Formats: sequence, structure tokens, C-alpha cells
Amino acid sequence: MTEIDTYDYGIIGSGPAGLTAAFLAAKQGFSVILFEKDEIGGNCLNKGAIPTKAIINSVELFNEIKNSEEIGIEVTDVKLNLPKIIERKNKVIEKLKKHFEKEIDEHNITFIQKEASIIDEHTIECNGNQYKCSKVIAATGSTPKPFRGISFDHKFILNSEDLLNMTEIPKKVVIIGAGAEGVEWARIFNAMGAEVTIAEKTSRLLHSADIEISKELEKIFKEQGINTYLSTDLDHIKDKKVTLTNGEIIEPDFVLITIGRHVTRFDNDNNNITYLGDAYGSLMLATFASYQARALVSDIVFDNVFVPSVVYGNPEIAWIGANEQDLPNGSYDKVVYPLGKLAKANCDNKTEGFVKILTYQGYIIGAHIVGKESSALIHEFAIAMQNNIKVSELKKVCFAHPTYSEAVYESILRLKL
Ligand SMILES: Cc1cc2nc3c(=O)[nH]c(=O)nc-3n(C[C@H](O)[C@H](O)[C@H](O)COP(=O)(O)OP(=O)(O)OC[C@H]3O[C@@H](n4cnc5c(N)ncnc54)[C@H](O)[C@@H]3O)c2cc1C
Repeated sequence: MTEIDTYDYGIIGSGPAGLTAAFLAAKQGFSVILFEKDEIGGNCLNKGAIPTKAIINSVELFNEIKNSEEIGIEVTDVKLNLPKIIERKNKVIEKLKKHFEKEIDEHNITFIQKEASIIDEHTIECNGNQYKCSKVIAATGSTPKPFRGISFDHKFILNSEDLLNMTEIPKKVVIIGAGAEGVEWARIFNAMGAEVTIAEKTSRLLHSADIEISKELEKIFKEQGINTYLSTDLDHIKDKKVTLTNGEIIEPDFVLITIGRHVTRFDNDNNNITYLGDAYGSLMLATFASYQARALVSDIVFDNVFVPSVVYGNPEIAWIGANEQDLPNGSYDKVVYPLGKLAKANCDNKTEGFVKILTYQGYIIGAHIVGKESSALIHEFAIAMQNNIKVSELKKVCFAHPTYSEAVYESILRLKL
């Protein structure tokens, strides 16, 4: 075994946490070595956020075109070309990978595409060599969690990674778990035309969201024909028959398990190892991972409250800050503005959803959106919350007409100062 070199930062894992930390540290003039055992970009780029969003883009557009008669477009014979969808998804991944590779080069980061392990808080081992680093960061991500006692067989009992290169459009699907991942896949298969059943063991869809978001989504799922069973879990699977705890027996093409993820940590785990992103074991979002990495390597102050969550598909859902059900009665003000009243939403025939704001003494403490462009709109609230901007100040902003942003304006107009 040889000792090769010394670095300021030794980072294991090249997902959003590892890459963000590496780029920021290098930008500040620190020497950085980055290890990745699989593909650059981590699970986010290769198996998570990005591939699913590329697929969602195709299937949502397909669904929209199919259902566009109401807005004056008659289309016959619209077809999904699944191999092409997967090919385009792969192209998106490859393109983004190239950007990352270029940035790694430009920042003079030493990149080693091999599995690494941690010897101690200043030493990384890889391929028989040891690297001394002033700071060691483990941004090692997470893996799909199997249902208790039932392993993934990757043919009938699947995790989301198994679906990224699917070759056939399924006819009937069961999804266990209605967090963001389960909800997005339910929307994908529904848009593809499959019969979808989703079972969630808590009493709500997206149980970490505001209660009104859960209720709105339940209504939307009903309209879209997604069978939703709440307070219902998987009971057992036998002979390709899925039995739910409510007694329902379904014979789907496959069952998708989306009940959470296991953190990837080292066996010699000790308190001196800095874990970031999914491996840290808090919010399992790329959003959280890169924000946390920025806070560690630069001088921004990290606060969980300011991490927005987005669930993609039709319509988008986004939220930030407090949920109403967690606030003491009478301690807050609230407004809910339905998109049915908004000019732009009516022009687009996208009137489903709302913007909901919760305030305390004139400051926004939570914002919850269901509707088109929620993924962009939520940042108007993020900026206000992060910078302590009062509602009275936001009321002075000029909003372009007609836009979805006007739903933000209309909501804040209705709030107490
Ligand atoms: C289907 C799906 C959709 C998602 N959609 C979204 C979304 O829309 N928005 C969002 O914010 N989040 C989303 N997520 C979550 C997001 O993908 C993760 O939160 C994010 O990838 C975490 O980033 P990370 O840097 O912590 O780890 P990862 O992206 O998991 O990267 C960790 C990397 O570490 C590497 N590694 C592990 N151990 C070693 C080792 N010993 N040596 C070398 N390398 C190692 C792994 O190979 C991996 O590449 C989604 C996840 C899934 C599964």
C-alpha cells in the first residue's frame, strides 16, 4: 500500500452532495479529490430525479395531446414510443454527465472512478492507495428499501431503478407507498394509460405535505382514475398476486415498492465522519443534498425550513415551511387562493389546484401549491422566507399579467399585514 498524495478535501460520492461540495471547495482554491464507484452524477442523475423527470416530460405531453380536444385540437392516433422515450432520457443523462466531467476538469479536481473506503477522519483508501485529506466527506447516497421480508426480484417486485429502462408499457401496476416517488410513478403509469393502484399505509397521500395538498391530490387521483387505498399496506405477494391489508387482491404486471430508502454508510461508522445528502439520513432530496453541501463548504447558513419540496407530474405540487396541521390553533393566518379564479390558469385550461399561504405576524411561515408551474412558483416564497421579507413588502411587487405568479400576488393581497 502506498500513500500517494494529500488533499484539502477528500469526497466520496459524486451525486448532488458530493459534486456541489467538490465544485465549491475547488472554486475557493482548495485541492479536491473525488471518488465515485459508479457513474458521475450519482443516483440523482443516473437513477433518480433526472431520469424520472425526463420520462414524466414525455408521458405528460402524450397525455395532454391525447386530451386536447377541449382546447380545440383534434388528434387521432397518438402513440407512445417507449424505446424513444428511454433513448431521449439516456441522452439527457449523458449530456449532463459531460457538463459535470468538463467542470471537474476545469476545477482541477482529481476524479477517481472507483470504490473508496474511509480509514479514519483524515484518510481515504481506494484501489490499494491511501489519500490523506484535511477534510473527508462521505456523500454516499442511499439505496431502495425493500418491503419487510420481501426482496426485490427485479422482475415482478421492483424498485424505481428497475423501471428506468422499461421495454414495455405496463397494463396494470400496483405501487406500495405514496410518498413523492410513489406518487410520481403513479402519475407516469396513469399517463401511459395503465391501470394504477396505489396503497399508502398512513391516512394520507404525500404524508409529509400539508393536509390540504394531500386532500387535493386524492381528489385529482380520483378524477384521473388512479385507485387509491389509504391506511392500507402490502400484506403479501404470492404467485404474482398482490394482497393488500384491506383484502384487495390484484394481479398486476408488477408491483413497485416505494417505501423509502436505506442510507449508504461505512461499516467503520463513527461520529467523526461527515455525511452529506441522503447518507446524512434526513430529507432524501437532491435539493437538500446540494443545499447542505453548500452550507458545509461555503458560508451560507443551513436551515431545513427553507428546503422546498416538489412533486412532478400533472399538476405539479410544491411546498416550503410549516404545514397547517402542525401549527397550534389560532397561532397563524391563512389564505387559500384557488387557481380556478386565475386568468392564466383559465387560458391554459389548468384550473386545478391552489396557492395556500400560512403567516405569522406578517411573515410567511409556510406555502403550499398545487398547480401548473408550482416548481417555479415555490421559489417566490423561498426568497421571501429566506430573506425575512414581510407580506407588506411583497404587496409592493409588480406582477406581470396574465401569469401563474399572479396567484401568489392574489394570495398575499388577501393576507393580513
Ligand atoms: C425515482 C426518484 C426520483 C427522485 N426525484 C427527486 C426530485 O425530483 N428532486 C429531488 O430533490 N430529489 C429527488 N430524488 C432524490 C435524489 O435523487 C437524492 O436525494 C439525491 O440523489 C441524493 O444525493 P446524494 O448526493 O446524497 O447521493 P446520490 O445521488 O445517491 O449519490 C451518491 C453516490 O455515491 C456513490 N458511492 C457510494 N458509496 C461509494 C463508495 N464507497 N465509493 C465511491 N462512491 C460511492 C454512489 O455510487 C452514488 O453515485 C429522487 C430519487 C428517486 C429514487
